[in-house]
Amino acid sequence: MSDKPVRVRIAPSPTGDPHVGTAYVGLINYAFARQNGGQFILRIEDTDQERSTRASEQAIFDALRWVGLSWDEGPDVGGPLGPYRQSERTEIYRKHVRDLIDLGFAYPCFCTPEELNAIRLRQRDLKQNTGYDGTCRHIPKDEAIRRMDAGETCVIRLKVPEGKTVVHDRLRGDVEIENSQVDDQILLKSDGFPTYHLANVVDDHLMGITHVIRAEEWISSTPKHLMLYEAFGWEPPTFVHLPLLRNHDKSKISKRKNPVSLLYFKQIGILPEAMLNFLAMLGHSMPDEREKFTLTEFVNEFSFDRISLGGPVFDLEKLIWLNGVHIREMDDDELARRIVGLMFTPEAMKPLIPLIKERIRTLGDYPEHVSYFNAPQIDVPLIDIWKAGKGMTTAQIAKMLKETVEFLDGIREFDARWLEEGLRTFCEQKEYQVKTLFMMLRLCITGRKATPPLFDVFVVLGKAAVGQRIRAAADAIAAWKPPAA
Ligand code: GLU
Repeated sequence: MSDKPVRVRIAPSPTGDPHVGTAYVGLINYAFARQNGGQFILRIEDTDQERSTRASEQAIFDALRWVGLSWDEGPDVGGPLGPYRQSERTEIYRKHVRDLIDLGFAYPCFCTPEELNAIRLRQRDLKQNTGYDGTCRHIPKDEAIRRMDAGETCVIRLKVPEGKTVVHDRLRGDVEIENSQVDDQILLKSDGFPTYHLANVVDDHLMGITHVIRAEEWISSTPKHLMLYEAFGWEPPTFVHLPLLRNHDKSKISKRKNPVSLLYFKQIGILPEAMLNFLAMLGHSMPDEREKFTLTEFVNEFSFDRISLGGPVFDLEKLIWLNGVHIREMDDDELARRIVGLMFTPEAMKPLIPLIKERIRTLGDYPEHVSYFNAPQIDVPLIDIWKAGKGMTTAQIAKMLKETVEFLDGIREFDARWLEEGLRTFCEQKEYQVKTLFMMLRLCITGRKATPPLFDVFVVLGKAAVGQRIRAAADAIAAWKPPAA
Protein backbone atom coordinates (compact mmCIF):
# COMPACT_ATOMS: atom_id res chain seq x y z
CA MET A 1 0.00 0.00 0.00
CA SER A 2 1.33 3.45 -0.84
CA ASP A 3 1.82 5.92 1.99
CA LYS A 4 -0.57 8.51 0.55
CA PRO A 5 -3.36 9.43 2.96
CA VAL A 6 -6.33 7.16 2.39
CA ARG A 7 -9.16 8.66 0.34
CA VAL A 8 -12.11 6.48 -0.61
CA ARG A 9 -15.49 7.15 -2.11
CA ILE A 10 -18.88 5.80 -2.98
CA ALA A 11 -20.36 6.97 -6.24
CA PRO A 12 -24.06 6.14 -6.36
CA SER A 13 -26.25 6.99 -9.31
CA PRO A 14 -29.41 8.80 -8.16
CA THR A 15 -31.94 6.67 -9.98
CA GLY A 16 -34.69 5.25 -7.81
CA ASP A 17 -34.88 4.48 -4.11
CA PRO A 18 -31.71 4.37 -1.98
CA HIS A 19 -30.44 0.81 -2.21
CA VAL A 20 -29.14 -1.35 0.65
CA GLY A 21 -26.12 -2.12 -1.56
CA THR A 22 -25.15 1.56 -1.42
CA ALA A 23 -25.22 1.48 2.38
CA TYR A 24 -23.24 -1.77 2.40
CA VAL A 25 -20.47 -0.48 0.14
CA GLY A 26 -20.64 2.86 1.97
CA LEU A 27 -20.14 1.13 5.32
CA ILE A 28 -17.01 -0.71 4.16
CA ASN A 29 -15.55 2.46 2.64
CA TYR A 30 -16.40 4.41 5.78
CA ALA A 31 -14.80 1.81 8.05
CA PHE A 32 -11.63 1.67 5.96
CA ALA A 33 -11.35 5.47 5.86
CA ARG A 34 -11.95 5.91 9.60
CA GLN A 35 -9.59 3.10 10.52
CA ASN A 36 -6.81 4.71 8.52
CA GLY A 37 -7.49 8.31 9.48
CA GLY A 38 -8.51 8.96 5.87
CA GLN A 39 -11.31 10.73 4.06
CA PHE A 40 -14.61 9.29 2.86
CA ILE A 41 -16.17 11.02 -0.13
CA LEU A 42 -19.66 10.84 -1.57
CA ARG A 43 -19.84 11.54 -5.28
CA ILE A 44 -23.05 11.58 -7.25
CA GLU A 45 -22.81 9.90 -10.65
CA ASP A 46 -25.72 11.50 -12.44
CA THR A 47 -24.57 11.41 -16.04
CA ASP A 48 -27.62 9.39 -17.03
CA GLN A 49 -29.73 12.47 -17.53
CA GLU A 50 -32.91 10.54 -18.28
CA ARG A 51 -32.97 8.51 -15.09
CA SER A 52 -31.24 10.70 -12.50
CA THR A 53 -33.34 12.89 -10.22
CA ARG A 54 -32.60 15.33 -7.43
CA ALA A 55 -35.26 13.68 -5.28
CA SER A 56 -33.43 10.36 -5.52
CA GLU A 57 -30.14 12.10 -4.69
CA GLN A 58 -31.67 13.65 -1.58
CA ALA A 59 -33.12 10.29 -0.59
CA ILE A 60 -29.60 8.77 -0.82
CA PHE A 61 -28.20 11.45 1.51
CA ASP A 62 -31.08 11.02 3.97
CA ALA A 63 -30.95 7.23 3.97
CA LEU A 64 -27.18 7.05 4.46
CA ARG A 65 -27.40 9.53 7.32
CA TRP A 66 -30.27 7.55 8.77
CA VAL A 67 -28.13 4.41 9.04
CA GLY A 68 -25.45 6.50 10.70
CA LEU A 69 -22.87 7.14 7.99
CA SER A 70 -21.33 10.54 7.37
CA TRP A 71 -18.94 11.75 4.72
CA ASP A 72 -16.15 14.30 4.65
CA GLU A 73 -16.76 15.64 1.16
CA GLY A 74 -19.81 15.53 -1.08
CA PRO A 75 -22.34 17.61 -3.00
CA ASP A 76 -24.21 18.57 0.16
CA VAL A 77 -21.20 19.18 2.44
CA GLY A 78 -18.75 20.62 -0.11
CA GLY A 79 -15.02 20.02 -0.06
CA PRO A 80 -11.83 21.17 -1.79
CA LEU A 81 -12.03 18.92 -4.86
CA GLY A 82 -15.61 19.50 -5.99
CA PRO A 83 -18.00 19.79 -7.58
CA TYR A 84 -19.01 16.31 -6.41
CA ARG A 85 -21.91 15.91 -8.81
CA GLN A 86 -20.84 14.68 -12.23
CA SER A 87 -23.44 16.68 -14.14
CA GLU A 88 -21.55 19.77 -12.94
CA ARG A 89 -18.21 18.53 -14.27
CA THR A 90 -18.90 18.03 -17.96
CA GLU A 91 -16.29 20.61 -19.03
CA ILE A 92 -13.64 18.67 -17.11
CA TYR A 93 -14.47 15.45 -18.96
CA ARG A 94 -14.51 17.16 -22.34
CA LYS A 95 -11.07 18.64 -21.72
CA HIS A 96 -9.67 15.28 -20.67
CA VAL A 97 -11.13 13.46 -23.60
CA ARG A 98 -9.59 16.05 -25.90
CA ASP A 99 -6.20 15.32 -24.32
CA LEU A 100 -6.70 11.62 -25.09
CA ILE A 101 -7.53 12.37 -28.72
CA ASP A 102 -4.46 14.58 -29.07
CA LEU A 103 -2.29 11.85 -27.56
CA GLY A 104 -3.76 9.27 -29.95
CA PHE A 105 -5.49 7.19 -27.26
CA ALA A 106 -9.04 8.05 -28.31
CA TYR A 107 -10.77 8.93 -31.56
CA PRO A 108 -14.04 10.40 -32.79
CA CYS A 109 -16.41 7.86 -34.30
CA PHE A 110 -18.92 9.11 -36.86
CA CYS A 111 -20.73 5.84 -37.44
CA THR A 112 -24.51 6.25 -37.43
CA PRO A 113 -26.81 3.91 -35.50
CA GLU A 114 -27.75 2.29 -38.84
CA GLU A 115 -24.09 1.66 -39.66
CA LEU A 116 -23.46 0.20 -36.22
CA ASN A 117 -26.43 -2.06 -36.67
CA ALA A 118 -25.14 -3.22 -40.04
CA ILE A 119 -21.75 -4.02 -38.46
CA ARG A 120 -23.48 -6.07 -35.79
CA LEU A 121 -25.59 -8.01 -38.29
CA ARG A 122 -22.53 -8.74 -40.45
CA GLN A 123 -20.62 -10.02 -37.40
CA ARG A 124 -23.54 -12.18 -36.42
CA ASP A 125 -23.76 -13.69 -39.91
CA LEU A 126 -20.05 -14.50 -39.78
CA LYS A 127 -20.49 -15.90 -36.27
CA GLN A 128 -17.96 -13.37 -34.93
CA ASN A 129 -18.09 -11.61 -31.55
CA THR A 130 -20.26 -8.55 -31.87
CA GLY A 131 -18.79 -5.16 -31.02
CA TYR A 132 -17.49 -2.05 -32.67
CA ASP A 133 -15.22 -3.03 -35.56
CA GLY A 134 -12.96 0.02 -35.39
CA THR A 135 -14.00 1.57 -38.74
CA CYS A 136 -13.35 5.15 -37.58
CA ARG A 137 -9.98 4.28 -36.03
CA HIS A 138 -8.55 4.49 -39.52
CA ILE A 139 -9.62 8.03 -40.31
CA PRO A 140 -6.45 10.17 -40.23
CA LYS A 141 -6.29 12.11 -36.96
CA ASP A 142 -6.23 15.59 -38.56
CA GLU A 143 -9.26 14.83 -40.68
CA ALA A 144 -11.14 13.32 -37.73
CA ILE A 145 -10.44 16.36 -35.55
CA ARG A 146 -11.42 18.73 -38.35
CA ARG A 147 -14.77 16.95 -38.82
CA MET A 148 -15.39 16.85 -35.08
CA ASP A 149 -14.56 20.54 -34.64
CA ALA A 150 -16.85 21.39 -37.56
CA GLY A 151 -19.70 19.99 -35.48
CA GLU A 152 -20.27 16.65 -37.20
CA THR A 153 -22.18 14.30 -34.87
CA CYS A 154 -19.82 11.84 -33.23
CA VAL A 155 -19.00 9.90 -30.10
CA ILE A 156 -15.46 9.58 -28.75
CA ARG A 157 -14.09 6.08 -28.35
CA LEU A 158 -11.14 4.68 -26.47
CA LYS A 159 -8.52 3.17 -28.77
CA VAL A 160 -8.09 -0.10 -26.88
CA PRO A 161 -4.42 -1.05 -27.23
CA GLU A 162 -3.12 -4.50 -28.11
CA GLY A 163 -1.83 -6.80 -25.39
CA LYS A 164 -3.14 -7.80 -22.00
CA THR A 165 -4.43 -6.00 -18.94
CA VAL A 166 -3.97 -7.33 -15.45
CA VAL A 167 -6.39 -6.24 -12.74
CA HIS A 168 -4.88 -6.49 -9.26
CA ASP A 169 -7.75 -6.93 -6.87
CA ARG A 170 -7.08 -6.73 -3.14
CA LEU A 171 -9.48 -9.59 -2.45
CA ARG A 172 -9.22 -11.69 -5.58
CA GLY A 173 -5.58 -11.43 -6.62
CA ASP A 174 -4.66 -10.90 -10.27
CA VAL A 175 -7.16 -11.30 -13.07
CA GLU A 176 -5.69 -11.13 -16.57
CA ILE A 177 -7.68 -10.33 -19.68
CA GLU A 178 -6.81 -10.11 -23.37
CA ASN A 179 -7.41 -6.58 -24.62
CA SER A 180 -8.82 -8.02 -27.83
CA GLN A 181 -11.86 -9.02 -25.73
CA VAL A 182 -12.60 -5.36 -25.02
CA ASP A 183 -14.55 -3.16 -27.39
CA ASP A 184 -13.41 0.37 -28.23
CA GLN A 185 -15.47 1.89 -25.43
CA ILE A 186 -17.48 5.05 -25.87
CA LEU A 187 -16.04 7.72 -23.54
CA LEU A 188 -18.07 10.73 -24.58
CA LYS A 189 -21.59 10.43 -25.97
CA SER A 190 -22.86 12.48 -28.89
CA ASP A 191 -24.71 14.78 -26.47
CA GLY A 192 -21.36 15.73 -24.92
CA PHE A 193 -21.99 13.76 -21.73
CA PRO A 194 -19.37 11.31 -20.54
CA THR A 195 -20.00 7.60 -20.05
CA TYR A 196 -19.53 5.97 -16.65
CA HIS A 197 -16.01 4.76 -17.51
CA LEU A 198 -14.57 8.15 -18.42
CA ALA A 199 -16.24 10.17 -15.68
CA ASN A 200 -15.46 7.60 -13.01
CA VAL A 201 -11.74 7.40 -13.81
CA VAL A 202 -11.24 11.13 -14.28
CA ASP A 203 -13.00 11.86 -11.00
CA ASP A 204 -11.26 9.16 -9.01
CA HIS A 205 -7.95 10.58 -10.17
CA LEU A 206 -8.78 14.26 -9.67
CA MET A 207 -10.35 13.54 -6.30
CA GLY A 208 -7.21 11.73 -5.16
CA ILE A 209 -8.94 8.39 -4.54
CA THR A 210 -6.42 5.83 -3.28
CA HIS A 211 -8.72 2.80 -2.98
CA VAL A 212 -11.71 2.04 -5.14
CA ILE A 213 -13.87 -0.20 -2.97
CA ARG A 214 -17.00 -1.16 -4.89
CA ALA A 215 -19.34 -4.01 -5.72
CA GLU A 216 -18.24 -7.05 -7.67
CA GLU A 217 -20.50 -6.13 -10.57
CA TRP A 218 -18.03 -3.43 -11.64
CA ILE A 219 -15.06 -5.78 -11.96
CA SER A 220 -15.60 -6.22 -15.70
CA SER A 221 -15.25 -2.44 -16.10
CA THR A 222 -11.90 -2.35 -14.34
CA PRO A 223 -9.71 -3.37 -17.33
CA LYS A 224 -11.24 -0.46 -19.26
CA HIS A 225 -10.50 1.83 -16.35
CA LEU A 226 -6.90 0.61 -16.16
CA MET A 227 -6.46 1.34 -19.88
CA LEU A 228 -7.63 4.87 -19.20
CA TYR A 229 -5.22 5.32 -16.28
CA GLU A 230 -2.44 4.09 -18.56
CA ALA A 231 -3.44 6.43 -21.40
CA PHE A 232 -3.57 9.44 -19.07
CA GLY A 233 -0.29 8.41 -17.46
CA TRP A 234 -1.89 8.24 -14.01
CA GLU A 235 -1.19 5.83 -11.20
CA PRO A 236 -4.27 3.63 -10.68
CA PRO A 237 -5.81 3.23 -7.22
CA THR A 238 -5.99 -0.08 -5.37
CA PHE A 239 -9.10 -1.97 -6.46
CA VAL A 240 -11.26 -3.90 -4.03
CA HIS A 241 -14.35 -5.59 -5.41
CA LEU A 242 -16.72 -6.60 -2.62
CA PRO A 243 -18.87 -9.71 -2.93
CA LEU A 244 -22.36 -9.16 -4.24
CA LEU A 245 -25.21 -9.49 -1.80
CA ARG A 246 -27.40 -12.41 -2.79
CA ASN A 247 -30.87 -13.85 -2.35
CA HIS A 248 -31.27 -17.29 -0.78
CA ASP A 249 -31.19 -18.82 -4.26
CA LYS A 250 -27.79 -17.12 -4.76
CA SER A 251 -29.05 -14.70 -7.41
CA LYS A 252 -27.96 -11.06 -7.02
CA ILE A 253 -30.32 -9.23 -4.68
CA SER A 254 -32.88 -7.27 -6.52
CA LYS A 255 -36.22 -5.79 -5.69
CA ARG A 256 -37.90 -8.66 -7.53
CA LYS A 257 -37.09 -11.03 -4.68
CA ASN A 258 -36.29 -8.96 -1.62
CA PRO A 259 -36.97 -5.44 -0.50
CA VAL A 260 -33.79 -3.49 -1.25
CA SER A 261 -34.81 0.07 -0.50
CA LEU A 262 -33.46 1.55 2.73
CA LEU A 263 -36.71 3.52 2.98
CA TYR A 264 -38.60 0.25 3.27
CA PHE A 265 -36.53 -0.95 6.22
CA LYS A 266 -36.93 2.38 7.96
CA GLN A 267 -40.68 2.26 7.45
CA ILE A 268 -41.11 -1.20 8.96
CA GLY A 269 -39.20 -0.15 12.05
CA ILE A 270 -35.76 -1.60 11.54
CA LEU A 271 -33.42 0.33 13.80
CA PRO A 272 -30.66 2.08 11.87
CA GLU A 273 -27.98 0.59 14.12
CA ALA A 274 -29.40 -2.90 13.53
CA MET A 275 -29.43 -2.28 9.78
CA LEU A 276 -25.79 -1.25 9.85
CA ASN A 277 -24.86 -4.13 12.16
CA PHE A 278 -26.57 -6.54 9.77
CA LEU A 279 -24.76 -5.11 6.74
CA ALA A 280 -21.48 -5.33 8.62
CA MET A 281 -22.00 -9.09 9.02
CA LEU A 282 -22.49 -9.71 5.32
CA GLY A 283 -19.32 -11.37 4.16
CA HIS A 284 -17.25 -10.03 7.09
CA SER A 285 -16.84 -11.75 10.43
CA MET A 286 -15.66 -10.29 13.71
CA PRO A 287 -12.60 -11.96 15.29
CA ASP A 288 -14.67 -13.43 18.16
CA GLU A 289 -17.59 -14.23 15.83
CA ARG A 290 -19.90 -11.96 17.81
CA GLU A 291 -23.00 -10.88 15.94
CA LYS A 292 -24.12 -7.78 17.77
CA PHE A 293 -21.75 -4.84 17.67
CA THR A 294 -21.61 -1.09 17.14
CA LEU A 295 -20.24 0.91 14.23
CA THR A 296 -17.21 1.93 16.30
CA GLU A 297 -16.47 -1.70 17.16
CA PHE A 298 -16.74 -2.59 13.49
CA VAL A 299 -14.40 0.22 12.48
CA ASN A 300 -11.84 -1.06 14.99
CA GLU A 301 -12.00 -4.67 13.85
CA PHE A 302 -12.64 -4.30 10.13
CA SER A 303 -10.09 -5.92 7.84
CA PHE A 304 -10.10 -6.87 4.15
CA ASP A 305 -8.58 -10.16 5.28
CA ARG A 306 -11.77 -10.99 7.14
CA ILE A 307 -13.97 -10.65 4.05
CA SER A 308 -15.06 -13.90 2.48
CA LEU A 309 -16.02 -13.99 -1.16
CA GLY A 310 -18.73 -16.61 -0.83
CA GLY A 311 -21.62 -14.33 -1.79
CA PRO A 312 -23.29 -13.31 1.46
CA VAL A 313 -27.00 -13.95 1.65
CA PHE A 314 -29.25 -11.03 2.46
CA ASP A 315 -31.48 -12.85 4.91
CA LEU A 316 -34.46 -10.74 5.88
CA GLU A 317 -35.40 -13.07 8.74
CA LYS A 318 -31.93 -12.64 10.20
CA LEU A 319 -32.19 -8.86 9.95
CA ILE A 320 -35.48 -8.94 11.82
CA TRP A 321 -33.98 -11.28 14.44
CA LEU A 322 -30.98 -9.00 14.92
CA ASN A 323 -33.28 -6.01 15.17
CA GLY A 324 -35.04 -7.83 17.98
CA VAL A 325 -31.73 -8.34 19.77
CA HIS A 326 -31.05 -4.61 19.55
CA ILE A 327 -34.55 -3.85 20.82
CA ARG A 328 -34.23 -6.17 23.82
CA GLU A 329 -30.93 -4.65 24.85
CA MET A 330 -32.16 -1.11 24.46
CA ASP A 331 -32.94 1.12 27.40
CA ASP A 332 -36.76 1.32 27.93
CA ASP A 333 -36.96 5.09 27.64
CA GLU A 334 -35.00 5.01 24.43
CA LEU A 335 -37.21 2.26 23.02
CA ALA A 336 -40.30 4.27 23.88
CA ARG A 337 -38.82 7.26 22.04
CA ARG A 338 -38.12 5.16 18.96
CA ILE A 339 -41.64 3.72 18.81
CA VAL A 340 -43.19 7.13 19.27
CA GLY A 341 -40.89 8.48 16.57
CA LEU A 342 -41.92 5.78 14.12
CA MET A 343 -45.68 5.92 14.70
CA PHE A 344 -46.78 8.85 16.76
CA THR A 345 -44.81 11.96 15.94
CA PRO A 346 -46.75 14.60 13.99
CA GLU A 347 -44.42 13.93 11.08
CA ALA A 348 -45.13 10.18 11.07
CA MET A 349 -48.86 10.62 11.63
CA LYS A 350 -49.51 13.38 9.15
CA PRO A 351 -49.88 11.26 6.00
CA LEU A 352 -52.09 8.75 7.84
CA ILE A 353 -54.53 11.16 9.42
CA PRO A 354 -56.58 11.94 6.30
CA LEU A 355 -56.91 8.21 5.70
CA ILE A 356 -58.31 7.32 9.10
CA LYS A 357 -60.00 10.47 10.35
CA GLU A 358 -63.40 9.27 9.09
CA ARG A 359 -62.93 5.90 10.70
CA ILE A 360 -61.87 6.48 14.28
CA ARG A 361 -64.27 7.33 17.07
CA THR A 362 -61.78 7.67 19.91
CA LEU A 363 -58.08 8.46 19.70
CA GLY A 364 -57.47 5.00 21.07
CA ASP A 365 -58.76 3.55 17.78
CA TYR A 366 -55.73 5.00 16.03
CA PRO A 367 -53.14 2.20 16.41
CA GLU A 368 -55.55 -0.49 15.25
CA HIS A 369 -56.24 1.43 12.06
CA VAL A 370 -52.65 2.08 11.14
CA SER A 371 -50.92 -1.09 12.33
CA TYR A 372 -50.46 -2.46 8.83
CA PHE A 373 -48.51 0.57 7.66
CA ASN A 374 -45.36 -0.37 9.54
CA ALA A 375 -45.74 -4.14 9.60
CA PRO A 376 -42.74 -6.04 8.23
CA GLN A 377 -45.04 -8.75 6.91
CA ILE A 378 -48.74 -8.93 6.26
CA ASP A 379 -50.68 -11.97 7.31
CA VAL A 380 -52.47 -12.32 4.02
CA PRO A 381 -55.83 -14.11 4.19
CA LEU A 382 -55.12 -16.43 1.26
CA ILE A 383 -58.59 -17.90 1.33
CA ASP A 384 -60.13 -14.46 0.83
CA ILE A 385 -57.81 -13.72 -2.06
CA TRP A 386 -58.75 -17.01 -3.63
CA LYS A 387 -62.46 -16.37 -3.10
CA ALA A 388 -62.10 -12.92 -4.63
CA GLY A 389 -60.74 -14.66 -7.74
CA LYS A 390 -64.16 -16.31 -8.31
CA GLY A 391 -62.93 -19.45 -9.97
CA MET A 392 -59.39 -18.37 -10.87
CA THR A 393 -56.72 -20.94 -10.02
CA THR A 394 -54.02 -20.04 -7.52
CA ALA A 395 -51.50 -20.10 -10.38
CA GLN A 396 -53.59 -17.60 -12.36
CA ILE A 397 -53.91 -15.36 -9.32
CA ALA A 398 -50.16 -15.50 -8.66
CA LYS A 399 -49.47 -14.65 -12.29
CA MET A 400 -51.86 -11.70 -12.23
CA LEU A 401 -50.29 -10.35 -9.04
CA LYS A 402 -46.77 -10.69 -10.39
CA GLU A 403 -47.71 -8.91 -13.59
CA THR A 404 -49.23 -6.16 -11.49
CA VAL A 405 -45.98 -5.67 -9.56
CA GLU A 406 -44.05 -5.46 -12.82
CA PHE A 407 -46.50 -2.90 -14.07
CA LEU A 408 -46.21 -0.89 -10.83
CA ASP A 409 -42.40 -1.02 -11.03
CA GLY A 410 -42.56 0.82 -14.32
CA ILE A 411 -44.86 3.59 -13.04
CA ARG A 412 -42.99 6.86 -12.67
CA GLU A 413 -45.50 8.88 -10.67
CA PHE A 414 -46.60 6.96 -7.60
CA ASP A 415 -49.69 9.09 -7.16
CA ALA A 416 -53.23 7.92 -6.43
CA ARG A 417 -54.88 9.11 -9.64
CA TRP A 418 -52.13 7.80 -11.88
CA LEU A 419 -52.14 4.48 -10.11
CA GLU A 420 -55.84 3.99 -10.43
CA GLU A 421 -55.98 5.02 -14.08
CA GLY A 422 -52.87 3.03 -14.90
CA LEU A 423 -54.19 -0.12 -13.27
CA ARG A 424 -57.57 0.21 -14.99
CA THR A 425 -55.82 0.37 -18.36
CA PHE A 426 -53.62 -2.54 -17.32
CA CYS A 427 -56.75 -4.60 -16.54
CA GLU A 428 -58.29 -3.69 -19.88
CA GLN A 429 -55.21 -4.78 -21.77
CA LYS A 430 -54.84 -8.02 -19.85
CA GLU A 431 -58.56 -8.68 -19.67
CA TYR A 432 -58.61 -8.82 -15.89
CA GLN A 433 -61.60 -7.80 -13.80
CA VAL A 434 -60.87 -4.43 -12.22
CA LYS A 435 -62.96 -5.17 -9.13
CA THR A 436 -61.27 -8.52 -8.60
CA LEU A 437 -57.76 -7.15 -8.91
CA PHE A 438 -58.43 -4.17 -6.66
CA MET A 439 -59.90 -6.39 -3.94
CA MET A 440 -56.94 -8.72 -4.13
CA LEU A 441 -54.49 -5.83 -3.94
CA ARG A 442 -56.29 -4.49 -0.88
CA LEU A 443 -55.96 -7.87 0.81
CA CYS A 444 -52.31 -8.24 -0.17
CA ILE A 445 -51.15 -4.91 1.13
CA THR A 446 -53.35 -4.50 4.20
CA GLY A 447 -54.59 -8.00 5.03
CA ARG A 448 -58.11 -6.51 5.31
CA LYS A 449 -61.21 -6.27 3.19
CA ALA A 450 -62.19 -2.77 4.29
CA THR A 451 -59.61 -0.01 4.23
CA PRO A 452 -59.31 3.66 3.32
CA PRO A 453 -59.20 4.35 -0.44
CA LEU A 454 -56.82 1.79 -1.87
CA PHE A 455 -54.54 4.07 -3.84
CA ASP A 456 -54.19 6.57 -1.02
CA VAL A 457 -52.92 3.63 1.02
CA PHE A 458 -50.52 2.74 -1.82
CA VAL A 459 -49.07 6.24 -1.82
CA VAL A 460 -48.55 6.38 1.93
CA LEU A 461 -46.97 2.93 1.97
CA GLY A 462 -44.67 3.77 -0.94
CA LYS A 463 -43.61 1.79 -3.96
CA ALA A 464 -41.08 -0.47 -2.20
CA ALA A 465 -43.49 -1.72 0.46
CA VAL A 466 -46.38 -2.12 -1.95
CA GLY A 467 -44.23 -4.14 -4.36
CA GLN A 468 -42.84 -6.27 -1.55
CA ARG A 469 -46.27 -7.09 -0.14
CA ILE A 470 -47.85 -7.99 -3.46
CA ARG A 471 -44.85 -10.13 -4.38
CA ALA A 472 -44.92 -11.93 -1.00
CA ALA A 473 -48.66 -12.58 -1.40
CA ALA A 474 -48.15 -13.89 -4.95
CA ASP A 475 -45.52 -16.35 -3.71
CA ALA A 476 -47.72 -17.43 -0.82
CA ILE A 477 -50.78 -18.01 -2.97
CA ALA A 478 -48.73 -19.94 -5.55
CA ALA A 479 -47.63 -22.35 -2.81
CA TRP A 480 -51.11 -22.65 -1.23
CA LYS A 481 -53.75 -25.30 -1.83
CA PRO A 482 -57.38 -24.18 -1.80
CA PRO A 483 -59.83 -26.28 0.19
CA ALA A 484 -61.40 -29.16 -1.72
CA ALA A 485 -64.91 -28.33 -2.94
N1 GLU B 1 -22.09 4.87 -10.40
C1 GLU B 1 -21.68 3.55 -10.05
C2 GLU B 1 -22.76 2.99 -9.15
O1 GLU B 1 -23.89 3.35 -9.36
C3 GLU B 1 -20.33 3.61 -9.37
C4 GLU B 1 -19.56 2.32 -9.38
C5 GLU B 1 -18.15 2.56 -8.82
O2 GLU B 1 -18.05 2.63 -7.59
O3 GLU B 1 -17.24 2.73 -9.60
O4 GLU B 1 -22.59 2.22 -8.25
